[in-house]
Amino acid sequence: MFEKILIANRGEIALRIQRACRELGIRTVVVHSEADTEAKYVKLADESVCIGPAPAAQSYLNIPAIISAAEVTDAEAIHPGYGFLSENADFAEKVERSGFVFIGPRPENIRLMGDKVTAKQAMLKAGVPCVPGSEGALPEDPKEIVRIARKVGYPVIIKAAGGGGGRGMRVVHTEAALLNAVSMTRGEAQAAFSNPMVYLEKFLENPRHIEIQILTDSHKGAVYLGERDCSLQRRHQKVIEEAPAPDLTARVREKIGERCVEACRKIAYRGAGTFEFLYEEGEFYFIEMNTRVQVEHPVTEMITGIDIVQQQIRVAAGEKLQFRQKDIQIRGHAIECRINAEDPYRFTPSPGRITSYHAPGGPGIRVDSHVYQGYTVPPNYDSMVGKVIAYGATREQAIRRMRVALSEMVVEGIQTNIPLHRELLHDIRFMRGGVSIHYLEQKLAQEQQPKAK
Ligand code: ADP
Repeated sequence: MFEKILIANRGEIALRIQRACRELGIRTVVVHSEADTEAKYVKLADESVCIGPAPAAQSYLNIPAIISAAEVTDAEAIHPGYGFLSENADFAEKVERSGFVFIGPRPENIRLMGDKVTAKQAMLKAGVPCVPGSEGALPEDPKEIVRIARKVGYPVIIKAAGGGGGRGMRVVHTEAALLNAVSMTRGEAQAAFSNPMVYLEKFLENPRHIEIQILTDSHKGAVYLGERDCSLQRRHQKVIEEAPAPDLTARVREKIGERCVEACRKIAYRGAGTFEFLYEEGEFYFIEMNTRVQVEHPVTEMITGIDIVQQQIRVAAGEKLQFRQKDIQIRGHAIECRINAEDPYRFTPSPGRITSYHAPGGPGIRVDSHVYQGYTVPPNYDSMVGKVIAYGATREQAIRRMRVALSEMVVEGIQTNIPLHRELLHDIRFMRGGVSIHYLEQKLAQEQQPKAK
């Protein structure tokens, strides 16, 4: 096992990784920007290194500074968390070339999955069901594009091969709008991801977002840890996640889980990963794979009892998974609410000093957050300041516990989306379970209407 790990991230996930390391008896180095110098999780680490000013481009995305920090502190491995450099194949390569272990998959796998066109091609080859669409990137010839779209059938969605974070997508309902949409998405993709390649997919009108968590080692061990339902989204960003997915049968889970495990074996994948699917009328359609730990990993940990971050570390150290598929038991239900520093109805960011803070607790409640009373949320990064996770024997109990937890929780001095969560936890359709990815936006739009009149 490693003696010292460098954590190349910030906020709640930096603290989460630190907790996993400490439990394993591993010393930690956390790198941080000038904006995070005073954060408690930075002080809690065995060592910390300031790698640059607040803007992420100069600190959390600064590859030479991170590698130098690993060198001066004698760290053996680097955990990238999520976001920032976690899915940057060049970073993973440089880490390994500098003699450190990258806690994640091999760079080839990150690269393969980072381009959504090659990812889809690899998944089709591996027998994973995908959204019907163009075979590979769209060609230049307008006639060909029109032909492909007709064959797939409207509505279609044009997506950037290099896209991420819900950006670089455009829905097209008619042939008249097609070519213009393609050229606009190409232009945006070039500007945002330095890659003008786009592809086309059938736009699914009423799907749910269901994803499969997998875990593999370097000794051909591979398991799936069930699924998560992340359909409650706003602007393609997840708001509430849960596991297991409401109404998904054990047989359906097993079938898709086995496909994902098989695909991992085919590409010799190592570590934790997530296969994201749209799920409509009983069918799964692959959209992308995330080659890192995800924000919503705790709901899976709660229902399986497996610490996913510790497993990432163990696998990276060359250990074998200590369990097989038959050992994985799904028990109970878990829900996660992402707590964002933002206006709960207008969604504008709300950084600043937290003047009063009280975290909830009690049976089945887990809070993953780095914040506390007196902490200042910097304006430079993502607005998520933590996650509340509720576990129950049943979905109903998890919802009730979450309601109690959110009624106890106090965050003052900044605005948060806690009021929105409190409302969603009493929403009849959410309580019934199984809403589509469009549900939250439709609900928010409806609530806006009377106010606008
Ligand atoms: P990103 O990498 O930007 O997150 P994804 O490919 O994972 O992009 O898609 C993000 C979200 O966009 C999905 O969760 C879903 O809400 C929507 N989406 C993507 N592809 C389709 C599609 N073919 N039909 C309907 N919605 C889609």
